[in-house]
This record gives sequence, structure tokens and C-alpha cells, in this order.
Amino acid sequence: MVNHEFFRECVSLMEDNGIDSAYFDTKCIFEDFPDDKEKILSLVKRRSEGYPLQYLLGQWEFYGYPFRVNENVLIPRADTELIIENVIDIVRKNNMKSPVIADLCSGSGCIGITLKKQIPFAEVYAVEISEKAIEIIRENAVLNSADINILNADVLCPETAAKLPALDIIVCNPPYLTQQEMDTLQKEVTFEPSLALFGGADGLDFYRKVTSLWKNSLRKDGWLVYESGDGQHGDIENILGKNNFYNIILSRDLNNIIRNVTAQKPEEM
Ligand code: GLN
Repeated sequence: MVNHEFFRECVSLMEDNGIDSAYFDTKCIFEDFPDDKEKILSLVKRRSEGYPLQYLLGQWEFYGYPFRVNENVLIPRADTELIIENVIDIVRKNNMKSPVIADLCSGSGCIGITLKKQIPFAEVYAVEISEKAIEIIRENAVLNSADINILNADVLCPETAAKLPALDIIVCNPPYLTQQEMDTLQKEVTFEPSLALFGGADGLDFYRKVTSLWKNSLRKDGWLVYESGDGQHGDIENILGKNNFYNIILSRDLNNIIRNVTAQKPEEM
């Protein structure tokens, strides 16, 4: 039984603290903890301090699949679903029968696991440096019955690429925020791991290093699909061009921001 007065109080508490999505967030908390007034109140108070709803609920949806989340992993963003669409397109248009796909900087595992669910005949590798994130990827693979290969390793270390087979597709949503962006984060984002956010002074460290380190792991005409930050696509195009990639394609997210930069590897490197 929803206590309407208590519900209103919770919404007001969040609103008074500047939470724009107060009604939605309160509803989510009430749905997950229907009979526990004390618990609800403590979560509402925490949310009012700017703590992310997703961490409070412990689970969030990505491409229609459930994913466990905690402070050790970036919260899956709706914008990142664009990567899934792009990879599904690549596999279909190129008639790939058993693509080998690597998800670098896997985090919660949402990209790699979703790709395995959507393309069951693919062989998927999730590579992640954080041991605590690896635990979450394992949980999410079980939760979604996704048979993927999980590797605890640094994607910036040259030995890591050698541990994987030849790849048809590399997807990567790396940390890409600049130092300036790190200094002015939205309150909610300050609770997310900086390891998953900070991409070096200009935000481009991972694009530079991943492109040059991993291009040799791609098969000829293999695809590299990056998520990128707002306004970074020009720099990433340059990096890909310098590494001789061709067929550079830009795609936009739901907010009409260029969010993915995709390119193919040529025969000669
Ligand atoms: N999209 C995230 C944000 O805007 C950044 C994630 C990332 O660096 N990959 O907070």
C-alpha cells in the first residue's frame, strides 16, 4: 500500500534539494522497497544529497537488459546504446557469421554483454582493468546468461592485446573527460569512479593509445567503434587517420550529438 502523504513528502524533500527528477526517482525507490519506510526515507535523503539513483537501486537497464551497478563502475548511459546499434549494423551489413568482438574498458560489462545477447553467434571478450569492476561484469554475465570471456587487464598495456585472438570488431567507451570537465562535474557524476571518466588533460589519451596499440589485433577491414565525448570527433578522426584507418563514420546519439566514431583497418599498416 502506497502511503500517498509519505510519497509526497519524499518528492518534496528531493525537490527542495534541487533534484529535477524527484517524482521519477521517488517512484523508483518506492517500487523497489515498497514495505520499508525507514529504508525508503534513508534512500530519499541520500538521493537528495545528489547520490545517483542507479547506485541506490543497485541495478539499471541498458538496451532492455538489467545490469548490477555500484560505485566501482560507470552507470550505463542511454547514449551508449548507439554502440550496440552500430555493431549490429556492421555485423548484418557485412554478413559476419562468427564475429570476434572485444569490448575494451568494459566497466559494468553492459556493452559486451548486450552485444552477446543481440549477436549470440559472436565471440565476445570484455577487458577491464579494475578488479572490482570485473566482479560486477561476472555478476552481470550470470544475470543475463551471457557466455562471454572476461579478462582483468590494462588495455593500455601492449601485452594485453596479445592475449586475445584476431578481432573483427573492437568497441571502446573509454574514459574521455578532460581535466577541465573533471573539475566541473555534475554532482551525481562525482560519485562515479574517476578511473572510468578521466581521459587525460585533453580527454584523448585512450583514443591515442588504444588506436595504436590495438590496430594490429584487428583483421584486415576490421572495425573500431569508439564512443566519444561532445566535440571530440574531429580529434579522434585525426588520430584514426594518422593510424591509416579508412571509412571513418560519425553517428549521432538521441540528443543529436556526435557520439560514435567508427573506422576500418586497411590491409597495410
Ligand atoms: N558519458 C560520460 C559522462 O558524460 C563519460 C563517460 C566516459 O568518459 N566514457 O559523464
